[in-house]
Amino acid sequence: MPQTPANDETKPIATSSPDAARPRLRLAPPIQRVVTSLGILCGFSRSCPGCADIRETQGICPACTAESAGPAGPWNTTQISSLFLEQLIPVRYFGHYEAPGGGGRCRIADLLATFKYRGRRDAGRELGRIFTRFPPPMRERFDAIVPIPLTAEKLHRRGFNQAAWLARSASRALRVPLRAELLSRISDQDGPQAGRSGVERRRLGPNPFCVPARPGRLNEARILLIDDVCTTGTTIAQAARALLCAGALHVEAAVLLISDRSITR
Ligand SMILES: [Zn+2]
Repeated sequence: MPQTPANDETKPIATSSPDAARPRLRLAPPIQRVVTSLGILCGFSRSCPGCADIRETQGICPACTAESAGPAGPWNTTQISSLFLEQLIPVRYFGHYEAPGGGGRCRIADLLATFKYRGRRDAGRELGRIFTRFPPPMRERFDAIVPIPLTAEKLHRRGFNQAAWLARSASRALRVPLRAELLSRISDQDGPQAGRSGVERRRLGPNPFCVPARPGRLNEARILLIDDVCTTGTTIAQAARALLCAGALHVEAAVLLISDRSITR
């Protein structure tokens, strides 16, 4: 997916995080893996999918959440230009892609890479749970949830659209219909985006997204776009522009992770 800033799975897992938020039980990794497996099999312990620390509760641990979260905690909002009638697109993001202090990507980004590039559906389910934690004010503000689509070729190659997985969780949490058919991706014409600035990407050519619907179908619709990563905002801007040009009234976006290239931490 062109929007993802790092598809290099050889990057080390970042380990910097607030010590106070770390779980207290620390074992040598081989012993920890054995204990974790035994505990999970016996039903009396679980492990964080981000750091594998043993915990009493299910899901991503507070330390992994804190590592990617902004100063105000998880789920913050920024705005990007839609490149259409000067409309701005609010973008909600759960956390930052990069670990604090230049320590590579965060553990949640590692979990996302495990999902996207190794096809680990258990990782996808854990990430989907994040999208059940939308703040209540978002309820009943949208008519449709639309995942950022892949091209047909990439969808065939990968076998699934990671944004659609996250969008299904958001649809259930917000009780808003999932309408993936409202937006298509015609091409990846902008190619690999790593290392390019937002201005460079916007000069690369026509919009790779289109709305394959008859005129008027999006009339007055309020749409929430969902994606896994926002690198410079160009993908979301192009998708939002396609929806607004086709008659959508309002478009916002929610992403799992945002790159420090999009917003100052
Ligand atoms: Zn963790």
